[in-house]
Amino acid sequence: MEQYSELSTSEAQLLQDISIQFAKYTVRLSRKDLKILVDLLTGHNTLNRHLTLLKIKEDPICLLCGEEYDTSLHLLGRCSALFGKRRKQVGKHFLVPSE
Ligand SMILES: [Zn+2]
Repeated sequence: MEQYSELSTSEAQLLQDISIQFAKYTVRLSRKDLKILVDLLTGHNTLNRHLTLLKIKEDPICLLCGEEYDTSLHLLGRCSALFGKRRKQVGKHFLVPSE
């Protein structure tokens, strides 16, 4: 997928793991929620990694934990500052793309 050439292997795997059931769920989302989802999935969002690529910000690191690039995958699955909220919402402290 040429348009996803900026994605890492695990981000591309995450996109491939999206099921038809998930796609059916997304078509029922409000326009606002669908935009948030698309922004997260494509990486074209206001997270620091993307803003750095656009030369809007200089530091691509996550402001919440300071440990990794601030990407969708990091925010959704790996940010250590959000593990409590992630555990409460999805039952796991961390997520990997195959989950
Ligand atoms: Zn983080």
